[in-house]
Amino acid sequence: MTHPSVRDSEPWRDPSAEAQIKIDHLVKSFGDTRAVDDVSLRIHRGELFSLLGGSGCGKTTLLRMLAGFVTPDEGRIGIDGQDVSRVPPYERPVNMMFQSYALFPHMSVENNVAFGLRRDGVEKGEITRRVGEALDLVQLGPLAKRKPGQLSGGQRQRVALARSIIKRPKVLLLDEPLSALDKKLREATQFELRTIQEQVGITFVMVTHDQEEAMTMSTRIAVMNHGKIVQVGKPNEIYEFPHSRFVADFIGSVNLFEGRLKECFADHAVVESPDAGADLAVGPAGTHAPGAAICVAVRPEKLRLAKPGEGLDLPNRLPGRVRDIAYLGDACVYHVTLDSGKVVKATAPNLGRWDDQPFARDEAVTVGWAAAASILVDP
Ligand code: ATP
Repeated sequence: MTHPSVRDSEPWRDPSAEAQIKIDHLVKSFGDTRAVDDVSLRIHRGELFSLLGGSGCGKTTLLRMLAGFVTPDEGRIGIDGQDVSRVPPYERPVNMMFQSYALFPHMSVENNVAFGLRRDGVEKGEITRRVGEALDLVQLGPLAKRKPGQLSGGQRQRVALARSIIKRPKVLLLDEPLSALDKKLREATQFELRTIQEQVGITFVMVTHDQEEAMTMSTRIAVMNHGKIVQVGKPNEIYEFPHSRFVADFIGSVNLFEGRLKECFADHAVVESPDAGADLAVGPAGTHAPGAAICVAVRPEKLRLAKPGEGLDLPNRLPGRVRDIAYLGDACVYHVTLDSGKVVKATAPNLGRWDDQPFARDEAVTVGWAAAASILVDP
């Protein structure tokens, strides 16, 4: 049975909706390093919530505090209305799936999955039924008698998942769950894991440094930097409306133009940017005031290239020259040196074949984009 998806109901938009996990002002230091620095978060039942950030940003420490393996210096963690901040790991309604999967090599797949239930003294018939159900869910029924060493990486990952959910925790914590898989298998498994999560309805909190993985799988993402959460949002919100230069730069590829906010109108703003060598028209200024130092962010796929003199009916038009072309198969990334000296990236889908590329190296071009295709971010 598939549970009604929080992807559609978006309970985080409803101020009266009770969150399942409430994290308040959590702090953890190791010596001089503030690994987690005053983090507050709300995670709703049924979410697949990702903690995303570069190496050392504190995401694993935060996950381990949720699991109970690390004790916070300050702050509080509540799960389903219970303060679990000082509750030992085995008494929390959570389970953790480790990066290494930690499977018992001498035990069959079914015994690995049954292990926790046996230890809890669950009745034999009940164990057989639940192990069967869990293995069906991860599509490993036919491999139940094999040992972990006789499985592929992806199959081992699914055994670990079956073992983690068989005790029906309220929350499953996943530490880089797909990092052991190669790229192709990882992409296939991302969808599989997401489907299983929706089927079982358990809240997943996942740590990853892979932004594509977080974008593909998550209901929402918390982006972390230096122990702090810098933005929380749905994947498309984080991508299209990053609040800061850091988030814009961390998620996907972006062109950034430094400048100063010159004028604000209802539907757009004007930024004076020596970086671009021109004034730039951008989306609405929001809370930013004229005079503020600001950055204009525009994604490479929003840029259009044209031959000089060719009509490009866009408010932002900057002259430049193609410096390099990266051929990616499905698209090309054009590196263009603007007359201001700044290098920008423009992505164009490969509609034709390689030999009919519209622009060549060293060719003069105009780079253009719509005001609404770019946004203002804090510098
Ligand atoms: P990665 O992706 O590299 O695993 P991360 O975002 O998960 O990074 P954490 O493992 O949470 O980061 O570490 C955050 C900071 O705390 C780092 O500077 C790390 O060196 C430090 N740290 C983490 N655990 C300990 C520990 N047990 N003792 C001392 N310092 C630690």
